[in-house]
Order: sequence, then C-alpha cells, then structure tokens
Amino acid sequence: MKINPRFIGFDIDCVVADTMEAFIRLADKDYGLTVTPEQITRFRVEKCLNIDPDIIEKIFLKLLVDPKKSGLKPMSYAVDILTELADYSCLYFVTARPDPKPIDTWLYSVLGPEVYKKVRLAATGEHDGKSEYIHEMGLKYFVDDRVATCLQLAEEGVNSIVFQQPWNEGRHDLPFVNNWLDIRELCL
Ligand SMILES: [Mg+2]
Repeated sequence: MKINPRFIGFDIDCVVADTMEAFIRLADKDYGLTVTPEQITRFRVEKCLNIDPDIIEKIFLKLLVDPKKSGLKPMSYAVDILTELADYSCLYFVTARPDPKPIDTWLYSVLGPEVYKKVRLAATGEHDGKSEYIHEMGLKYFVDDRVATCLQLAEEGVNSIVFQQPWNEGRHDLPFVNNWLDIRELCL
C-alpha cells in the first residue's frame, strides 16, 4: 500500500533542508569552530556540543532569518522527489519556524517556480503546535526529525514517520525513513 502524496506532509529543517550541514559550515566559517556530524547527537545541539550557547543561537538565527544567503542546501534527492510528488498533489510543509517568509523564499529558490506553485507552507512558531495545521491540511502522514514532535503527532492521530538522524536514532519505535529515496518508495 502506497501513501497517496495528497496525505503526506513534511517538516522542513533536517528533513527537506540540510540544516545541520549549514550549522556545521557556519560554525567553521563565522567562528572557526570545528563540529563533526557525529557530534550532533541531540536535537538541542547545545546539549551535545561544547560551544557557547549564544554562538549556537546566533548561527540558528542566521539560518532562520536568511536561509538562502546562509547557503542552506536541500537534503539529497529532496528536490527531485518533491518535484515528482508535485505531479500528483500539492506539497505540504509544516515548520516550527516562527516566520514563514524566509523559508518560503528558500523553497522557491530550490524548487523553482513551477513546483513552488504546489507548495502549501505553515509556520507554527513552536515545536509542539504542528498537529492543528496538519489536521487542517487534511494530512494523515507527517515526516519529521524531532522525536518529541513525532510522538505527540502519533498520539493525536497522525501517522508519524521519523526522518532518521543521529539525534533520533534508537529513541523511538515509530516507522522511519533514512532518506528521500525511502520517501519516494513509500509514495510512488
Ligand atoms: Mg526538523
């Protein structure tokens, strides 16, 4: 049984966007700090990195305010597969970012004008506020990398799918995907 693309939605950071790659790159470029992907074992990176929390906040703020200029990249195959899914349905995104505009501009730049027309984006401003938007969009499945979000959504009747990342691996018993090729396999 495949998932109808109409009924699946996606988180943005660390699912569609490779936010951790950008974080690691900016930590090096702006502050000369070396961070390896293996070091990021917690969703709240200040809990696993020995870096001044103010610096961490500044880096994430930069990624919130101007993802395009920060060089935020899409995850591998995300653009190809979202482009394919857009043939069947609108593309639904729910992000915990507070302001939809910067990431909306970023989506336009990575997806291109045609696929972007299918984008439906909601910004909740808080990690725990996604289910209302997901239900409003009529979605039944949601892909997110934050375990607490996935667990909460599952309790509220959404079929959560964890996008596997070092900070969620082994911390849940929910269905998961390793990458966008897995998402393609689920839907197409
Ligand atoms: Mg995320």
